[in-house]
Amino acid sequence: MTPSLADIIIPPMKNEDQRVSARIFIGLLVGALIGVLFNLWGENPTREWILDNICAPVGTAFLRALFMVVVPLVLSSLTLGVCNLGSGKNIGRLGGRLIGFYMATVLVAIFIGQSLVLTIQPGAGISEELIESSRDRFESQVAGLKERSAMVSDSLWPGIVETIIPRNIVFEFAETNMLSIIFVAVVFGLALLSIDSHRARAAQDVLGAISEASIKIVGWIMLFAPFAVAALMITAVSQFGFEVMGSVLMYIGVVVLGYLFHFFITYGLLIRFLLRMPLKDFYRRAWPVIATAFSTSSSNATMPTTMRTLEKNFGLPKSITTFSVPLGATVNMDGTALFEVVAALFIAQVFGIHIGLMGQVTLVILILLTSVGVAGVPGGSVPILMSAMAALGIPPEGIALVLGVDRLLDMGRTVVNVTGDLVGALYLARVEKIDLTEN
Ligand code: ASP
Repeated sequence: MTPSLADIIIPPMKNEDQRVSARIFIGLLVGALIGVLFNLWGENPTREWILDNICAPVGTAFLRALFMVVVPLVLSSLTLGVCNLGSGKNIGRLGGRLIGFYMATVLVAIFIGQSLVLTIQPGAGISEELIESSRDRFESQVAGLKERSAMVSDSLWPGIVETIIPRNIVFEFAETNMLSIIFVAVVFGLALLSIDSHRARAAQDVLGAISEASIKIVGWIMLFAPFAVAALMITAVSQFGFEVMGSVLMYIGVVVLGYLFHFFITYGLLIRFLLRMPLKDFYRRAWPVIATAFSTSSSNATMPTTMRTLEKNFGLPKSITTFSVPLGATVNMDGTALFEVVAALFIAQVFGIHIGLMGQVTLVILILLTSVGVAGVPGGSVPILMSAMAALGIPPEGIALVLGVDRLLDMGRTVVNVTGDLVGALYLARVEKIDLTEN
């Protein structure tokens, strides 16, 4: 008998997984602490040697290993996920539910950001000197971003066709173009469903083995995560420009407040009342994903951990994770959307540009649509944000004001993004009435 929504129980976490989570937690704390000390220590040859020869290789090894698994994992898992769903009708139902959920939560995120920035007005007291000095400091970086932003605008429409449908599969895989990879996986999955079932079975067995092996590799990588997370934190925190933070403190405050609201209140309400799960339990189980996202600032790099954590710590079956995680990590970006709306309106406030009601509505629609195309990599949203700003008559060069603090805010928005993917996958399991204790 299929259990009712309220009956679904999540199996207890295994001791080994609890230990890994605890170690990652310690790694993050120790890394942040050392990072602060390194920051206070200031630039000097010994510090730079440690950063370049110890922290950088450890962090890079972790990031590259995670990225190494992304393409085989997504391709094998999603193709198999489509096959497991058994029919185009099921795919449509699950896909529709998931996209509906993502759209609803991203709209809430945008609304939170917009309400906070319009009420608190963080851009009101910014001085001319700060505008001038940021412009000088980030001149070349902004010029590079402007070029990328122009390319992004071209890729939105009609370029989106080329972004999604690859001419050369290998090229898109090499570029980790997630929208293309998802497209290829879904099309091949549908094709396998429509050929002779014995032959399709053989392909599915191979895909299943690749997917399982990839998850196994992620398990190995996670054993290394405590050290890697510490190394990444040391590198990031030691290079934060704490002095530039002071000048845009109100802006940082608004963005962080928005993240916290969405993370604890929006998701908290969904977890408690829709998923019917104790909040503490959720965050404890989700910890490896949160820490990976926080230290890597990349949804793509976190995706393998998200998939493994949902299977191991939450007991979700592959039929849900293989479908929802690649989709979520690519198109569901609540934290990014929240950040984008605050940043765009903050810069408009600084330059004294009034965005009327129609402008606000256009901004919401632009961010809703463009957040889908944001690459899940550090700073992936900045070029897209600049093109949205340009479309609204906000000078894209104004981005210079916030670039100095973006690494910090990127860590937070990536956490919100991936938490949305976890909640989305659990929501799908709920509405599909899946018994989690069976896995
Ligand atoms: N770093 C974010 C992510 O990977 C993307 C962004 O907003 O820049 O999810």
